[in-house]
Amino acid sequence: MRVPFFDYPAHFRDHEEEYVRTFREVMGRGAFILQRELEEFERQLAEFVGVKHAIGVADGTNAMILGLRALGIGHGDEVLFPSHTFVATYGAIEFAGAHGVACDVGPDGLLDPADVEKRITPRTRAIMVVQLNGLVADMDALSALARRHGLHLCEDSCQALGATHADRSAGTFGAFGAFSFYPAKTLGCFGDGGVLVTNDDRLAALVREMRDHGRRPDGTGLAWTIGTNARLDNLQAAILLVKLRHLPEAIERRRQIAERYVSGIADLPGIEFPWQHHAGSAPRFNTFQNFEILVDQRDTVRQRLLELGVQTAVQWGGTPVHRMPCYRRADELPNVDRYFSRCLMLPMNHFMTDEQVDYVVTAFRRAFEECRSAA
Ligand SMILES: *Cc1c(COP(=O)(O)O)cnc(C)c1O
Repeated sequence: MRVPFFDYPAHFRDHEEEYVRTFREVMGRGAFILQRELEEFERQLAEFVGVKHAIGVADGTNAMILGLRALGIGHGDEVLFPSHTFVATYGAIEFAGAHGVACDVGPDGLLDPADVEKRITPRTRAIMVVQLNGLVADMDALSALARRHGLHLCEDSCQALGATHADRSAGTFGAFGAFSFYPAKTLGCFGDGGVLVTNDDRLAALVREMRDHGRRPDGTGLAWTIGTNARLDNLQAAILLVKLRHLPEAIERRRQIAERYVSGIADLPGIEFPWQHHAGSAPRFNTFQNFEILVDQRDTVRQRLLELGVQTAVQWGGTPVHRMPCYRRADELPNVDRYFSRCLMLPMNHFMTDEQVDYVVTAFRRAFEECRSAA
């Protein structure tokens, strides 16, 4: 058997007839830009997340750039973020004109509030929390910290649609949350897409203008602010409306797969499941955007798995943001470095069959034991 890390064509095949019907219907009306499917998707997504406003944008990165700019964060400001994230988190901060300061993570792989506090300076304006792999960080501690220091709390929740912390959704804890609809995300469209969510009326109105050349959606064509073109295509919104209906099943399936993985490999010595290390007491709902574990001899286990037909991944090529050539500062982040020396992602998407999951478990156990006896 061969198990791919992600099956992109399956993404289309899954509800193919519905997509083709949607395409015909929307294209037949010539409804390309800022049309009713986008409005309807924004309404339904806001309802799903439990937030007042959702504004469809070009992608998750633009959601963060526009959100930061709408908060007036830019030149001379510092924004704290975890180095265990996609480089887009840092890129968005720098692209908005501010400086990103990378922070260390806790044993759960998410932003460590104690390390964040150490890096606050008079220039710090915001904390960009990253809700990674379908998991929400310790928002009780981070919210309290932001409040104590008068900082904006922002969320890169691109990987955490549907995840909660004490029954509150990722993306709704602070000034704004950013979600991505990149195809490999749990709610993925057929290209790029994103959304900014917020409960702040003023921020919502400003982002709505900024995504459309600074124009107010009043039909006058008058631009009231400096904007850009960062709209979510109406066709992608129409596709996302179909996918959103199936999202609860997709999340449920991911949780089943995760459970099957955990019960299949948890007894192996030294395996760690980062989400089991959560410091806070509030219950968290993990949507398993990714199934990332920590394992010794990661590279040899991974090579052996590949020979057995199982494709795995080491996130972002194994390089955290503070080790990227584009990172402008020199920061020591020992927990992030340790995390990246052991992290491994097993195939995880809701199109996988039980047979595939069981095959991955069998192959993993074999690869693990072989590497251990060779060591
Ligand atoms: C996917 C992702 C992004 C960027 O989203 P795009 O829609 O590709 O711009 C940002 N941060 C994280 C953590 C992501 O996983």
